[in-house]
Amino acid sequence: MIPAMRAAILAVGSELLGTDRLDTNSLRLTEVLEGHGVELVGKAVVGDGEAAIAAEVRRMAALADLVLVTGGLGPTADDVTREAVAEALGRGLRHDPEILAGIEARFRRYGLRMPAVNRRQAQVLDGAVLMANPRGTAPGLRLDLGGDRAVFLFPGVPVELEAMIASDLVPWLAARSAGRGRERAVLKVASLPESTVEERIAPAYGEFGRERISILARPGEILLQFWAEGTAEERRRSLAAVARRLRDLVGPAVFTGRLDEDLAGAVGEALRARGETLATAESCTGGWLGQRITAVPGSSAWFQGGVVSYADRVKEELLGVPAELLAAHGAVSEPVARAMACGVRRRLGATWGLAVTGIAGPAGGSADKPVGTVHLALAGPGEGDEAVSHRGVRFPGDRERVRWMSTQLALEMLRRRLLGLAATEDGERPAAALAPGSAG
Ligand code: ATP
Ligand code: MG
Repeated sequence: MIPAMRAAILAVGSELLGTDRLDTNSLRLTEVLEGHGVELVGKAVVGDGEAAIAAEVRRMAALADLVLVTGGLGPTADDVTREAVAEALGRGLRHDPEILAGIEARFRRYGLRMPAVNRRQAQVLDGAVLMANPRGTAPGLRLDLGGDRAVFLFPGVPVELEAMIASDLVPWLAARSAGRGRERAVLKVASLPESTVEERIAPAYGEFGRERISILARPGEILLQFWAEGTAEERRRSLAAVARRLRDLVGPAVFTGRLDEDLAGAVGEALRARGETLATAESCTGGWLGQRITAVPGSSAWFQGGVVSYADRVKEELLGVPAELLAAHGAVSEPVARAMACGVRRRLGATWGLAVTGIAGPAGGSADKPVGTVHLALAGPGEGDEAVSHRGVRFPGDRERVRWMSTQLALEMLRRRLLGLAATEDGERPAAALAPGSAG
């Protein structure tokens, strides 16, 4: 770690001040800084105005050792970061024929002539070190201010920034951090409310420190985050110890330790390990379950396909749900969910058939089946021909949320069954379950 090093981030771009572009570059840079134990003392977003950029750079250079600026290196008149930083730090700007030649060559490679405006991108601050831009025209610039103080100017385009993070920023930070840093790990928990998870992990707060563990609640999922500092080896050992303890405390509701894996990915791993396959029958989720499943790379190894059976006629014709069942119980009912799961399992020849039918709202609810009522069924191998499990639930929230929660609970039903866990566990939100008998 570099205990003394402090950083600030400035995102330049008028579009970032509007409502439809988010400054994600600073989040990415923050992650890199964290990884090297650098303290972020401030960040800001400014429009493409020379005075505003210069004022921020001056302010940041006074309070931080490291100032990271993204954006405004483009060729157009509104790209004025170079000029603004020159003014803020009292440096000259000169034209660099070598950079110009490089930009011209890049255009030639694509069979184009360089527009005259691109000449501006060949401007270099006095004393600056160039950072190659393999994915764009404008090189980045690093200005050393003495000691371990520096200002980095990166392009705003995220993929161009990414290349320079790897080629320039990380090596620069690594050379100053001696391999020490701060690192985050996560565990994801399905189907338990935040308060239950909080209760279960309480002992870990005492053992590892309150500030090292945090809970982030998201609909249908809890993210447990924890941090470790020190050398790579120290971090690895410490994170593994916390993860082990949290898994013990929370139990099998933890479905992954990977930030990039969701419940569909976890289900896929379990199916793959067993050499089994899945088919889906969806009504109220309209294919969202299939979308989540097929978003998992390699899902073709275990996903057969799905039927979006929105209309009753489609449930009958494609899934073989008996018309009498639909007439007697309605499409949103336990018997129909069960028939959908069995139907899709047989017709698509999968090990497992997973079905969802529900009332997502805002209209369509009734006294005995209010908006949010969802029936889920899972058909799989078992006694006789197949074993079918069912859950009836009532989700709070709007259409989007009811549909999302339906996909989440469907996947969790399957995961629990694949892992041989009880269908539900103590501490699960009781309001989510329909009273027995109200199904149908
Ligand atoms: P460059 O220096 O690479 O030319 P620029 O700011 O001049 O960057 P723009 O044309 O303004 O280039 O932006 C290029 C793209 O990068 C736009 O889609 C813009 O929204 C995006 N972008 C710029 N800054 C950020 C940021 N901080 N976070 C996320 N996206 C950004
Ligand atoms: Mg810009």
